[in-house]
Amino acid sequence: MINFEYARANNVADALRLIAADPAAKFIAGGTNLIDLMKEDVERPTRLVDISRLPLKGIEETADGGLRIGALVPNSDLAYHPLIEARYPLLSSAILAGASQQLRNMASTGGNLLQRTRCFYFYDPATPCNKREPGSGCSAIAGINRICGILGTSEECIATHPSDMCVALAALEAKVHVAGPAGERVIAFSDFHRLPGNTPQLDTNLHPNEIVTAITLPAQGFARNYSYLKIRDRLSYAFALVSVAAALELEGDTIKQARLALGGVAHKPWRDMAAEAALRGQAANHATFRHAADLLLRDARGYAHNAFKIDLARRAIMRTLAQAAKATPQSQSAKKIR
Ligand SMILES: Cc1cc2nc3c(=O)[nH]c(=O)nc-3n(C[C@H](O)[C@H](O)[C@H](O)COP(=O)(O)OP(=O)(O)OC[C@H]3O[C@@H](n4cnc5c(N)ncnc54)[C@H](O)[C@@H]3O)c2cc1C
Ligand code: SF4
Repeated sequence: MINFEYARANNVADALRLIAADPAAKFIAGGTNLIDLMKEDVERPTRLVDISRLPLKGIEETADGGLRIGALVPNSDLAYHPLIEARYPLLSSAILAGASQQLRNMASTGGNLLQRTRCFYFYDPATPCNKREPGSGCSAIAGINRICGILGTSEECIATHPSDMCVALAALEAKVHVAGPAGERVIAFSDFHRLPGNTPQLDTNLHPNEIVTAITLPAQGFARNYSYLKIRDRLSYAFALVSVAAALELEGDTIKQARLALGGVAHKPWRDMAAEAALRGQAANHATFRHAADLLLRDARGYAHNAFKIDLARRAIMRTLAQAAKATPQSQSAKKIR
């Protein structure tokens, strides 16, 4: 048992003051990831700053026709919100593909962005891991790497970001609003998470002592032609081996706009502008989808146990795009379990 202090923040300024007072403090929201990491001795905060009662639980329309989602909106409230279901069903589907109903009830929007990798070695302090202990080595590269990445990996880390929700947010070009000692700033979703490079201990570009306050979505929600496909070892309650978020705007059979983001393959939700450009202006058919998938995977690299992900990702991209084009998104049976 490690000792730690507990402090509850009443507002954002209070949270920023409490976190700045202790360099080893951590925010806690739903606690569904942080508490596990503390139990496994991976995280050892000296102080927990409880932000769960901050007034960041609203979902509001913005002047430009988009939505602003408070960082403490629980994942289930977000997935089932009428405006999300109607205008951003891709986001709703992705959230409902993750975790379990109980976890989604606790998990917050901000915490989902900041959840840590599920790499087995990261959770096992008896093994070297550059993300947990920089400079100690990467056990996964020559180890059990079935769940690891195939895109954007480095010689120091091949872990993946485990979120489903973030894959949809990447495709929808969300923005992350943060507050910190230097004031407020807005980060494009594609710039929020990082590739491992030689600093795999850093998952995101959030500065020390900054807090995520909200996510904003632009007006375009791709509510008609979208699909989120998650391939995993079990049908529920499992992280993605590969997941794909696809969103299309069609004019007849021609693709006017395309968004494609992948989960389970990289240290961040993976988008490839060349693959999206290859879809634009083309007929929505098998050949177009195959070309985009090949482009997206052109630099993919498999390891001993996960090379299968390259072909799996290719097939998943093609299927997801086909489902999106036909306006037949994957079954959303989880919606019935409220
Ligand atoms: C068994 C299990 C299965 C799961 N399956 C899936 C799955 O299939 N798909 C999926 O996407 N997720 C899955 N999850 C992960 C779950 O979605 C995350 O644990 C959850 O979203 C984290 O949110 P939280 O509020 O509980 O975060 P916490 O555990 O409270 O915090 C996580 C991290 O975020 C930081 N933090 C939290 N809020 C903020 C903020 N506003 N600003 C700055 N920092 C913040 C904390 O300091 C901490 O470092 C699973 C989790 C479990 C335990
Ligand atoms: S892949 Fe990353 S998280 Fe996993 S052992 Fe290597 S350094 Fe650690």
